[in-house]
Amino acid sequence: MIQGEGGEGPTIGLRADMDALPILEASNKPWSSKAPGKMHGCGHDGHTAMLLGAAKYLANTRNFKGSVALIFQPAEEGALGGQKMVQEGIMDRFDISQVFGMHNSPGMEIGKFGICHGAIMAALDEFDLVVKGRGGHAAKPHETIDPVVIAAQIILGLQTLVSRNTSPLESLVISVTKFSAAQAYNVIPDQVELAGSVRTLVPSLRDFAERRILAVAQGIARGFGADVELRYRRQDPVTFNHTEGTNLAIKAASNLVGSASVDDKMKPRMGSEDFAYMLEARPGAFIFLGNGSTAGLHHPAYDFNDRALAYGIGYWVSLVETVLAR
Ligand SMILES: [Zn+2]
Ligand SMILES: [Zn+2]
Repeated sequence: MIQGEGGEGPTIGLRADMDALPILEASNKPWSSKAPGKMHGCGHDGHTAMLLGAAKYLANTRNFKGSVALIFQPAEEGALGGQKMVQEGIMDRFDISQVFGMHNSPGMEIGKFGICHGAIMAALDEFDLVVKGRGGHAAKPHETIDPVVIAAQIILGLQTLVSRNTSPLESLVISVTKFSAAQAYNVIPDQVELAGSVRTLVPSLRDFAERRILAVAQGIARGFGADVELRYRRQDPVTFNHTEGTNLAIKAASNLVGSASVDDKMKPRMGSEDFAYMLEARPGAFIFLGNGSTAGLHHPAYDFNDRALAYGIGYWVSLVETVLAR
């Protein structure tokens, strides 16, 4: 917590994530990871450095009212650290009234910002789908209920949930990403394990996807004498930017780099963010800042661009001095 010298006021939370990814780094930079298979492939080290830089400046100047809570969040990459911090009461404990987050964006120019009102990142759900047939010898398929062929039809069937069942103006992504069958050339397995993820921007599509994945998979499987078992887990909700917080974030970024460098109608991204849990608990906004033309997030050659540091620090400071203007 850093207290301003401008008198009484609310507390706002600034959040930086910290965790790395299980990737073997291939950026070939002198500062590349020294731990094989552990890489800051999403730039969370940069996010932490930016919030620390802002903390140093804010602690020296204190040109704001109220207080700033610095939230260094672990376990963003799939482990729901943001949800855990909210569940453990961080918002009440520090009396946080608004909360803000930021992420670097490869492909966006250094010194530029991108944001939009409402949904800015998608909800993420994950599913495991077991197709249960009857295995046997690959030379005698007629004596089996081949789950490989059935699973292949299910994968194609699931694609019609997007193309034939969802309005073309709404966003639904269903990706089957795992297919695990027999380990031999001549074996038809008893079952096939499929898994994948679902991304949506509105809650109703989330319910729809869960319901229809089961219905379509079950219908296809039963048609061939097989059956399915579905486990569907809701991970991150939609990262939803609130009106007032978004306006404040746009103003803070514009004060820093000029409004021409702030895209305030950015298209939402279909990736997800566990900062969404913090925005469910408190109003606020999430913004992207340019990382220049580096490799993409989660790519082995990704490199957080240190030239973005000054803009990230500048944004946090500008935001604090805007939201908590004395
Ligand atoms: Zn990431
Ligand atoms: Zn990230």
